Amino acid sequence: MNLHEYQGKELLNSFGVRIQRGIVAQNADEAVAAAKKLTEDTGTGWHVIKAQVHAGGRGKGGGVKLAKSLDDVKTIASQIIGMDLVTPQTSAEGKRVHQVLVAEDVYYPGDSEPEEYYMSVLLNRGNGRNMIMYSTEGGMDIETVAEETPHLIFTEEIDPATGILPFQARKVAFNLGLSGTAFKEMTRFVTSLYTAYVKSDSSLFEINPVLKTSDDKIMAVDAKVTLDDNALFRHKDLAELRDLREENPIEVEAGALGLNYVDLDGNVGCMVNGAGLAMATMDLIKQAGGEPANFLDVGGTADAARVEAAFRIILKDPNVKAILINIFGGIVRCDRVAQGVIDAYKNMGNIEVPIIVRLQGTNADIAKELIDSSGLDVKSAVEFQEAADKVQAVLA
Ligand code: GDP
Ligand code: MN
Repeated sequence: MNLHEYQGKELLNSFGVRIQRGIVAQNADEAVAAAKKLTEDTGTGWHVIKAQVHAGGRGKGGGVKLAKSLDDVKTIASQIIGMDLVTPQTSAEGKRVHQVLVAEDVYYPGDSEPEEYYMSVLLNRGNGRNMIMYSTEGGMDIETVAEETPHLIFTEEIDPATGILPFQARKVAFNLGLSGTAFKEMTRFVTSLYTAYVKSDSSLFEINPVLKTSDDKIMAVDAKVTLDDNALFRHKDLAELRDLREENPIEVEAGALGLNYVDLDGNVGCMVNGAGLAMATMDLIKQAGGEPANFLDVGGTADAARVEAAFRIILKDPNVKAILINIFGGIVRCDRVAQGVIDAYKNMGNIEVPIIVRLQGTNADIAKELIDSSGLDVKSAVEFQEAADKVQAVLA
């Protein structure tokens, strides 16, 4: 589960990580009120208005703007709220902005220039250890840095038995070229950042940029936080931060029905039991020259109710031109699944796309007979390849 920048920053702050302070606003008036409050609290004269959507690269897309007066705050906030923000990380249609973060301007001019670093915390799946990845080249695309100047990216692996050790925090500060106050600030920053990552059961923190202000404070100016869904049950407060507006509505609905569904770009809807078989089915469709419209694992009990729910979800995608049902009857008997398909089909009454069903396993022969004699526009297949060929035939 992803958090908005403002939520991520609040989480970091609650673990003692210094952040660029801000207040979230739903409309221009709230933005002005937020700006006034920030000026009272922090003394800031200027503010940055930042679109809150689940996508990076907002600055490049015009979703992060500097406001030098309250009039600016009002104008910019009303421009950004309601816009469809297109960034390198969104689709061409962009993402609708529902709210902005009004933040203190922390790039104030001083004796020295502010500096931007990159820092992330993530799991190294190769050895099962968390690592801190960091670079002097903050504020820009880390992918570009990785490609063009990989020697400017450092990693620090953390032993889960000890957690981050003081010498490791000092190494980070040293490699970033810091000294004096900024050095101390950075060791504190990285230590509390790592603690926040572990305590919140996150799977990714990406802070880009981490800023060194002209008066040597180290703070998070941006925050991308991904929480581990499997650990959300023990973080009820964090689970409540979920913003369903940012997620694919069909996926949200499928999730509520207990179906494992991922929306894809193709035109062949898939209904499969078991994640492995679902992946293999998608491969098969591709090999036969088609494109899967979704990943859908209906789980172990492919009864009429579940099959119907799955049909409804698949058919919400207007790109679907055919549906391939590929079910292995191990514990669940194929004839029951076949009856489920027939019942669901009749019950829905208006399925206009052709359906190809492949049922293998216990009672597969009875299932095939049931399908073939149902009188419905449902084609049965026995072999994997046969199923794929039939899908291609109906699409052609
Ligand atoms: P992203 O583009 O989605 O990664 O959004 P960021 O939160 O990283 O902001 C983009 C850029 O806006 C940063 O790299 C900064 O250069 C700039 N920015 C952020 N906060 C401030 C600020 O307080 N003052 C000024 N002048 N620029 C800022
Ligand atoms: Mn950023």
